[in-house]
Amino acid sequence: MEHLIRGWDGEYVVVRYDRQANAWMFIAIHSTVLGNASGGSRMKVYDTPSDGLRDAQRLAAGMTYKWAGVDFPLGGGKGVIALSGPVDGKERDRLLERYGQLVDSMRGAFSTGADLGVGPELVKIIGRETTHVFGLRGAGDPGPYTALGVFTGIETVAAELFGSSDLTDRTVIVQGTGDVGLPLCKKLAGAGASLKIADINAERARGVAAELGAEAIEADAVYSEPCDIFAPCAVGGVLNAYTIPQLRCRAVVGSANNQLGETEDATRLHQRGILYTPDFIINSGGAIALCGMEALGMSDDYVVRKILSIRDMLKSIFDEAKQNDESPLAAAERRARRVLERGPA
Ligand code: NAD
Repeated sequence: MEHLIRGWDGEYVVVRYDRQANAWMFIAIHSTVLGNASGGSRMKVYDTPSDGLRDAQRLAAGMTYKWAGVDFPLGGGKGVIALSGPVDGKERDRLLERYGQLVDSMRGAFSTGADLGVGPELVKIIGRETTHVFGLRGAGDPGPYTALGVFTGIETVAAELFGSSDLTDRTVIVQGTGDVGLPLCKKLAGAGASLKIADINAERARGVAAELGAEAIEADAVYSEPCDIFAPCAVGGVLNAYTIPQLRCRAVVGSANNQLGETEDATRLHQRGILYTPDFIINSGGAIALCGMEALGMSDDYVVRKILSIRDMLKSIFDEAKQNDESPLAAAERRARRVLERGPA
């Protein structure tokens, strides 16, 4: 852990050890240049506590880019409860309450919300101990807001590649029909797209496809099935040295976090002529809604306008990437760094 903290470019890490559950809590604050840190908290079993710390550090840095990418006055932070084995019932609730006390002790330097293993119901338990939580007031489910951002991104990419944002008969594959994938599929179907849907839960994919007049495809067919746009809305790491050569799409526009197996995968996509929309821009809709409404006092209308402005962000990122013959990821990261250098607007 010493090695991880020494080698990190972030600001600080708050650590607690819970003896009773043999669990570690890490709150990694990557950057407060733009404002107090904000990011979700995840709870899962890790092989070692160091793996949990590494995850917190990596995800906190991602939040710095996400907030800078959309120019929000918030800093990058992330919480991880690293379990040594599964917990449930009263023991899980006790752990989350203790985690809530830890968040509260930071007096607003970090505010948090749902992430992997900490769904909205568990955020409520953290919220028993601190007011520095998102998702309990106002904004509700972030999924539809994230889907709105992805849908806007798909329209923007269609305009970029095909000269029109009209999605009629454009073939889109959606991987994952959960909180984001389902509302996205509904929007795409409403816009007349020719929709192919996959989910690891094949029955769910078939049900959604039947409801929307779409085609359900096998979960492992998403990479090689021809389409205009591939929308990964399930898990991370789906774009890698193995899947990228199989892709038969013109663009990748989806909500999943950490879609790239490694940074070089952005270059692999660029070399194949596949337009990639960086995840920290395209999936920011839910975070914009939750933090915008609950921390920054924005109205629903304003938040929706901010999410729709993902269109302009993407356009300028695509233009810069084109000028430099580089991946949109490189241009988006440079844009975020420029905002961080400038400081709060
Ligand atoms: P979810 O858990 O509600 O839904 C995920 C869906 O994907 C489920 O239906 C699941 O069965 C399916 N799935 C899992 N593995 C799959 C696979 N290998 N192939 C096909 N389907 C698979 O999650 P969600 O909230 O919809 O989030 C989806 C992705 O978007 C995640 O990567 C998440 O981190 C990211 N994201 C979500 C939000 C949000 O607002 N919910 C915001 C930003 C990013």
